[in-house]
Amino acid sequence: MAKYKLEYIWLDGKTPIPELRGKTTLKDFATPPTLADVPLWGFDGSSTMQAEGKSSDCILKPVALYPDAARKSAYLVLSEVMHPDGTPHPSNMRATAPDDPDMWFGFEQEYFLYKDGRPLGFPEAGFPGPQGPYYCGVGYKYMGSVARTIVEEHLDLCLHAGINHEGINAEVAKGQWEFQIFGKGSHKAADDLWIARYLMMRLCEKYEVDVEWHCKPIRGDWNGSGMHTNFSSKYLREVGGKEHFEVLMEAFAKNKEAHIAVYGPDNHLRLTGHHETQSIDRFSYGLSDRGASIRMPVNFIRNGYRGYLEDRRPNSEADPYQIVSQIIKTIESVGEPVLA
Ligand code: ADP
Ligand code: MN
Ligand code: MN
Ligand code: MN
Repeated sequence: MAKYKLEYIWLDGKTPIPELRGKTTLKDFATPPTLADVPLWGFDGSSTMQAEGKSSDCILKPVALYPDAARKSAYLVLSEVMHPDGTPHPSNMRATAPDDPDMWFGFEQEYFLYKDGRPLGFPEAGFPGPQGPYYCGVGYKYMGSVARTIVEEHLDLCLHAGINHEGINAEVAKGQWEFQIFGKGSHKAADDLWIARYLMMRLCEKYEVDVEWHCKPIRGDWNGSGMHTNFSSKYLREVGGKEHFEVLMEAFAKNKEAHIAVYGPDNHLRLTGHHETQSIDRFSYGLSDRGASIRMPVNFIRNGYRGYLEDRRPNSEADPYQIVSQIIKTIESVGEPVLA
């Protein structure tokens, strides 16, 4: 028997966007555990905005297991929050998100690294040089030193955990970065994204750095942070076609408010029609158009309106479970033929 550290991770009751919580239990296993081996656990919901003090027990139901390279013999146990009777807690958005293995999602998570209440590299008073050289930049005067160290370490932690990280880049504002995660299956992509956020925040503790997920932390001529959500159904990948695409876009236009409602708080500060965004009260789509709500990638039309689409509206703070739920709902409303 060997002892393993199991870090149970869940989302708390904060609204509109939950925060991550985690605690460790130690368990003995003869061989490295699988998801089926890790037990239910519980926590005090009165301390996480999920229960009243007089009946405070909430249940943690493990739903995904990730190797944790930051600790010896350790796993991260992503868990859903349940009532003691086994029904999902109202804060449990994963339970309401359909788990469709044929829906593929790629999230482009943008964020700022902050120190002492301002983006890394910002002077104590005033601003650094204007945007321009920071996007995919190199050199100490643009990037500083600690940011890239964090980004690289985070990438390795995610890869070790089995998260399908697809890339990283420095973003347009100073102190702003992005990572991309792709997942086949709506739950897989959203689960991986929450764990990647957890790993980033935990890692940053030792550098005395905060991760700022808000979509518009600096006013003025500084980019906000989005979480472009690339999506494809099996039908969109394999059949597609102009007619189908136009019907789908009509459904997206019709459901504009329902999408914006789950695309993250304060999005009106970011979706202004400037800084590569469409304004929050409009819906548009276009080929390679970074000022549209939905962008068709460069080869989409050439491939017969087939492939994936990029919804540019979700923001950096949004809950991926709610994003995938709404996208699936809108796609289902047009009744795509089911493919074998
Ligand atoms: P850009 O910055 O140009 O918008 P990125 O390269 O940052 O593009 O992100 C594109 C994303 O699209 C990647 O995260 C990738 O995983 C995702 N993607 C690629 N193919 C598909 C697909 N068939 N379905 C869903 N997402 C996809
Ligand atoms: Mn990108
Ligand atoms: Mn980006
Ligand atoms: Mn993008």
